[in-house]
Amino acid sequence: MTDYQNILVAIDFSDAANDVIAKAIDIGKRNQTRLTIIHVVEYLPPIDIAYEPVLSSTWSIDENELVKQAKTSLKQFCERHKQDNAEQLVVIGTPKHEIAQYARDHQCDLIILGSHGRHGLGLLLGSTANGVLHEMPCDILAVKIGT
Ligand code: AMP
Repeated sequence: MTDYQNILVAIDFSDAANDVIAKAIDIGKRNQTRLTIIHVVEYLPPIDIAYEPVLSSTWSIDENELVKQAKTSLKQFCERHKQDNAEQLVVIGTPKHEIAQYARDHQCDLIILGSHGRHGLGLLLGSTANGVLHEMPCDILAVKIGT
């Protein structure tokens, strides 16, 4: 197997995430490298001006709070899987773009994600795995989820 030294693992906190991290830990051990684990907060601010009058008074989400909560969840997830020494990363955006962009910017040599997560169970390949595959900054391992 190729020697991977900069492995990025995409975790969405779905049930599939347990399979993804188990595979990633195994590959990290074989390559004697620690993992970088990324979670993308998918927050879409209201974009249609037509909804503005309704949303402006009631729609208020604190992005910093979302990131803070996601960081706590990721820390707990890493502790549960004995990955306290992994680099933990939380960003806001669209998962497929943020994952590929981070991999490109940090010269990752392998991305590990689930074939499916919360979005894509009906699809041959989930939308995030498919999107990252299209942007293809490096090798990608889509861990088979489900039947
Ligand atoms: P999906 O596109 O929801 O079918 O997800 C496929 C895989 O993409 C998941 O198993 C995760 O590995 C990854 N993924 C999806 N959403 C996120 C997210 N918000 N943050 C990090 N990874 C994600």
